[in-house]
Amino acid sequence: LDAPLFADLSGDFALSFEFFPPKTEKMDAVLWESLKSLAPLGPRFVSVTYGAGGSTRERTHATVARIARETEIPAAAHLTCVDATRDEIDEIAREYWAAGVRHIVALRGDPPREGERFQSHPGGYENAAALVAGLRKVAPFEISVAAYPECHPDSEGVAADLDNLKRKIDAGANRAITQFFFSPEAFFRFRDAAAAAGIAAEIVPGILPVSNVAQTRKFAGLCGAAIPAWMDRLFDGLDDHPAARQLVAATVAAELCRKLYAGGVRHFHFYTLNRAELAYAICHLLGKRPVAQAKEAAA
Ligand code: FAD
Repeated sequence: LDAPLFADLSGDFALSFEFFPPKTEKMDAVLWESLKSLAPLGPRFVSVTYGAGGSTRERTHATVARIARETEIPAAAHLTCVDATRDEIDEIAREYWAAGVRHIVALRGDPPREGERFQSHPGGYENAAALVAGLRKVAPFEISVAAYPECHPDSEGVAADLDNLKRKIDAGANRAITQFFFSPEAFFRFRDAAAAAGIAAEIVPGILPVSNVAQTRKFAGLCGAAIPAWMDRLFDGLDDHPAARQLVAATVAAELCRKLYAGGVRHFHFYTLNRAELAYAICHLLGKRPVAQAKEAAA
């Protein structure tokens, strides 16, 4: 209780930022502004999500390739098993390698129509573990996979979900990035259970700064994340106060990160929704400073 507030936050942790491929020129400009703002924080990598449908996929490729070409930040491309044969996916991976992309976030993907069970494409990779094994044969990529502290909705339970994560790591993935969650205890339970199951790879918490609970609830329903009652109470009455919602969002996410840091976490992956301000403010609260500034201070 005597410790000064914010005393333990030295910024000595790694960061990564996730973006989605922009649909319009205006969104493209916002993404590049966000990247420019966040780059000085020295992210370990930035990643770009991958959707269903040809045009979305091309946008992912174009965005990742541009980051690889025009910035110093290592770029990671998300890739799913949905609606493509193994050969088609291998070809996409080869194109990434040729474009200088060295990191893939390998995912099964969601069924193209909400509410249906996932069906693998005939001749496609059946799940993320199979995709990881396939990518390992294409090129020596760094590979991240998904993990679910509160269990994936398709899984038979915690043990089956951990078995699946272990299969992905054993197939050659280097780290797991989690779905968003709001209970640090859920993350620690999951991390401990993973270690007990023999999973030695790093498990990086995925942090979603929430400024719109209704939207987050819709997402959370699909991916098995729980929205605690306190979250509703915090945002109650703020519908017409967008600026206040942003401040609350930064505070909640910084508090979550602070607890995770106290429990030993040293890498945070931010779901940025292509906006820099929240992620930047949260990192700042945690003691992160632009790399050049930090070097000057140390000199
Ligand atoms: P898998 O690891 O293959 O597992 C899915 C489920 O099936 C698990 O419950 C697992 O236990 C079960 N399962 C798998 N194989 C078996 C088996 N052999 N036997 C029994 N059970 C099995 N989606 C996108 O479309 N694009 C993205 O860019 C994207 N990015 C993401 C980034 C992160 C960090 C995360 C956490 C998720 C992302 N997703 C993305 C969502 C993801 O595609 C979905 O959550 C999807 O439903 C599962 O993908 P997975 O890679 O976890 O699948």
